[in-house]
Amino acid sequence: MICTVECRLAETGNCYLYVCPACGPYNVCEELKYWAKEIMGDFAGKRHLLSAYTREASSAIKKPAGLEILTVDRVKRILSESAESTVLEKLDSLLMIAARKSEIFGDFCNLDFDFDYPLLRARNSDEMENIAHGLIQQGLAKSSYDGDARNIAVTVEGWQRVQEQQLYREKSKNVFVAMSFSDATFHIFEQAIDPAIRGAGFVPIRVDRQEHTDDINDFIIRQIRASRFMVSDFTEHKNGVYFESGFMLGLERRVIWTCHRDHFGKTHFDTNHRAFIVYGTVEELRKKLEDRIIATEGYGPNYKQT
Ligand SMILES: [Zn+2]
Repeated sequence: MICTVECRLAETGNCYLYVCPACGPYNVCEELKYWAKEIMGDFAGKRHLLSAYTREASSAIKKPAGLEILTVDRVKRILSESAESTVLEKLDSLLMIAARKSEIFGDFCNLDFDFDYPLLRARNSDEMENIAHGLIQQGLAKSSYDGDARNIAVTVEGWQRVQEQQLYREKSKNVFVAMSFSDATFHIFEQAIDPAIRGAGFVPIRVDRQEHTDDINDFIIRQIRASRFMVSDFTEHKNGVYFESGFMLGLERRVIWTCHRDHFGKTHFDTNHRAFIVYGTVEELRKKLEDRIIATEGYGPNYKQT
């Protein structure tokens, strides 16, 4: 239903459980089953991101009974909030998959181009194959003697990269929050950014609340380095927010950009083209931000099923 791979309708009752080898198992409500074709048509260029979402969610949740029931509203929100991964992110994701599949150094592992492309948020099998060739070109993996990229082994350089990635990606729960901390923006953090980050299973790091004695800049930089990604709110346009976001981008980690509608026209530098979450109310920001985090970073280590 989500993608073009043939899937199986496994259960019907108050909802429909589909099992797709690419998207994983997912539950849809009656209304979504009816409207699916139309919605997928509206978001034709982004449906692979919904496959990535359901695949990720099902591997985080394990039991089909715990899967959320996707509704029309929910799917529209996921599709509009999901952002494309960069090529480097896809290379890293595939490298992590290969590393997880290899038990012994030098082992060749089998990549499943047909059905595993959503795991790296790729569009299709062809893109996954190209990414596998990219890993080989970069020296992070090598192919078997016949040059088939379905069979690759992670090289020493590859394992080095895996270790660096693990340090912050799998272990760090921290999300650095860059924003203006004034009385007028207090509720943006309290009612939207903090609960959205926690809801996705991560821990927000807000620097003005930390006890510290050393120089503020060094301290901030250390907190940014220890964070997995960043949420930057540009409401009130503080210079620090631009600086901190630029620093995070330099580390090649994700920055999620948000701004209140009334302040959005004033954003400057090269941030305008990025996929901003522009919001009117804190409720709106909370929902959209949580969706964006889960859609781009997956569930965090503290995620609890409700
Ligand atoms: Zn599918």
